[in-house]
Amino acid sequence: MMIVDTIEALREVLNFERSSRHRVGLVPTMGALHAGHRSLLERARVETEVVVASVFVNPAQFGPSEDYLDYPRDLDSDSAQCRDARADVLFVPDVSQIYPREPLTRVHVEGLADRYEGSARPGHFDGVALVVAKLFNAAGACRAYFGQKDAQQLAVVRRMVQDLNQPVDVVACETVRDADGLALSSRNAYLSGEQRERALCLPRALFAMRDASDPDPRSLERLGAGMLDEADSTDYLACVDPETFEPAPSLPALAIGAIRVGRTRLIDNVMIEARS
Ligand code: AMP
Repeated sequence: MMIVDTIEALREVLNFERSSRHRVGLVPTMGALHAGHRSLLERARVETEVVVASVFVNPAQFGPSEDYLDYPRDLDSDSAQCRDARADVLFVPDVSQIYPREPLTRVHVEGLADRYEGSARPGHFDGVALVVAKLFNAAGACRAYFGQKDAQQLAVVRRMVQDLNQPVDVVACETVRDADGLALSSRNAYLSGEQRERALCLPRALFAMRDASDPDPRSLERLGAGMLDEADSTDYLACVDPETFEPAPSLPALAIGAIRVGRTRLIDNVMIEARS
């Protein structure tokens, strides 16, 4: 596995590979890799000839009171996992490589970036869209693998790619969960044993909404909200259209939720099909 830390070196490698008609699979991450990230790498390995993992903790997507400095970082473990997953290239730029100057350019996906996660974390999706646009510019034409776990991020990236005609196929990968249902997340490392137990209320609420026979999204939201008592607070729980993140008037819908347990913020989502 080749480790590169400059955009120039990445471009050179990937342009060469594309000139041999090799497809590039890009897996953008913030590191602290777990089985969720590995599932993206494995899918890229099956579908493309050159698998590139990027590890970059993007300051632009963290709010001033968020966990940028504390975010778990473990490059040794990340590179071992990328090697195990048979990635070809690990791209690990430092902040000055991605942000040589304070950017004046904003990438704002109007509306989509303002609801739910966007409203709970102002500026978050502008930071995500900016860094993903930069990674796509650095990598060039590729298939890019994103987790359904971050469903609104996926919708923002898909819309950005369409709006900017970026030469990227966005591939959505299913959420990987622990056996008890908790979605894997690098931030789960912040949870104590007792907090982790309480965090399970979020997937349980989403699964209950999915499995209920009620066809009305608003009453499903009430059902789910009633199951979140163990969280310290709830940012939102809603049934939305998975592309626009507007409230869904009917099923099918994506049930999305965000809670806080201690100092940890958890998000999750589950698709609810139309009732038969
Ligand atoms: P992150 O490092 O948290 O920015 O995540 C990098 C990529 O991995 C994103 O596309 C996430 O949606 C995806 N991802 C994170 N957790 C999971 C999970 N539990 N299952 C599937 N994909 C995930």
